[in-house]
Amino acid sequence: MRNEQQFKNQHVLVLGLAKSGEAASRLLYRLGAHVTVNDSKPMEENPQARDLETLGIKVVCGAHPLTLLDEPVDFIVKNPGIPYTNPLVAEALKRGISVVTEVELASKISEADMVAITGSNGKTTTTTLIVEMLKNSGKEPLVAGNIGTVACEVAEKATDQNIIVTEVSSFQLQGTEKFHPKVAVLLNLFDAHLDYHGTKESYGHAKAKIFANLTEEDFYVVNVDDDFVVKLAEEVKGIKVPFSTTQEVVEGAYVKESTVYFKTERIIDRSDITLPGKHNLENILAAIAAAKTMGARTEQIVKVLKTFTGVEHRVQYVKTIEDRKFYNDSKATNILAAQAAVSAFSEPVILLAGGLDRGNSFDAFIPSLQKVKAVVTFGETKEKIMAAAKEAGVDVIKPVLNVEEAVPVAFDLSVAGDIILLSPACASWDQYKTFEQRGEKFIHAVEQLIQR
Ligand code: ADP
Repeated sequence: MRNEQQFKNQHVLVLGLAKSGEAASRLLYRLGAHVTVNDSKPMEENPQARDLETLGIKVVCGAHPLTLLDEPVDFIVKNPGIPYTNPLVAEALKRGISVVTEVELASKISEADMVAITGSNGKTTTTTLIVEMLKNSGKEPLVAGNIGTVACEVAEKATDQNIIVTEVSSFQLQGTEKFHPKVAVLLNLFDAHLDYHGTKESYGHAKAKIFANLTEEDFYVVNVDDDFVVKLAEEVKGIKVPFSTTQEVVEGAYVKESTVYFKTERIIDRSDITLPGKHNLENILAAIAAAKTMGARTEQIVKVLKTFTGVEHRVQYVKTIEDRKFYNDSKATNILAAQAAVSAFSEPVILLAGGLDRGNSFDAFIPSLQKVKAVVTFGETKEKIMAAAKEAGVDVIKPVLNVEEAVPVAFDLSVAGDIILLSPACASWDQYKTFEQRGEKFIHAVEQLIQR
């Protein structure tokens, strides 16, 4: 750990527990800070808060009282989900108190170099690819964040032999001041999270904070096919490593005549890559650029790309039954993600979609629906998706109760050579606890088909 004394005797208010708040509280407490934890969930329903109290940390639960700011507060660690409009956060900022997220702590104590990945879509896939490429090359990557352990907990244990690979969301990045990766990756920027950030500009501004502290010796990996990304990366310090599926960017990763290159080196033929889709090709190019920059070896990168079948629930290949291939893309909780998944296939697709109704229209989904041969739909958005599919001219549209019912219906509609794809374009909470549970139900239903 670097600068172990930096938080000693500091007064820190940790706002919002969950995994990251708890990890930050424990870390700061171990490092000698005076920690106060504030969580909106009442004490009786909050075992995490009770555990921290037992440890000797001051805990205030059930509301966010402004009186917390009457005590000394050097800085606040805010859960990324708490908006800046929260009265306590707004008041703290008014008083000039710094408000950061837990990744800031990680960056401040880490001895290891960090590869940070952000973008609207593809973060987890790219993060996983980079970790695999580095691991196979004999490096010692540690995955942190969304799919791993909380970043500050990983950073506490990391040595300078490790490389921390972490995905960072716009919510996390907005709460950073000194966050300083060795390699910063920006994949793409769609209109996402506008409810939190207000405008695309302020969303972009939050994402661009990934570059804010780079020096001339650091690297930034950017998608030069995305105009907004290019704009945000215009004045970044550091060495640019671009990637593109359409242009030969010889200082980075690109495709030429169906072959993937990094700089002048031939890496792999596209036909040897297992992950389907143009969107995954973008993730792959970004991963190659970052992994190569951190010293991964080409033959190991090739091995990963030939065998990697996708992260669970992200256009994940499940099984082939009677020449129909099943893919689980339960993580596609918005239209953009589902569009990417549908366009990943050249074969005929039977699409399973539907879920929580957020009140949005599905008009933007119509161009993708025009490419599918049948739609099996379920959940709260069933009617809306049926209407959009009808508008798109889809021949076969079947409403069913849920994912479990959709699988055999889709199979009965299919012929050899078809793709059966769960890519719901909606969140899962109307019928399932999580998108993971929805994906597991899908996989289970596919397995039941074999028995049938
Ligand atoms: P994130 O971590 O950013 O949510 P994931 O890697 O988990 O991204 O992928 C989530 C979904 O987004 C996938 O299921 C896929 O449908 C879509 N997706 C993945 N990568 C991209 C990309 N580069 N561009 C557009 N969509 C993508």
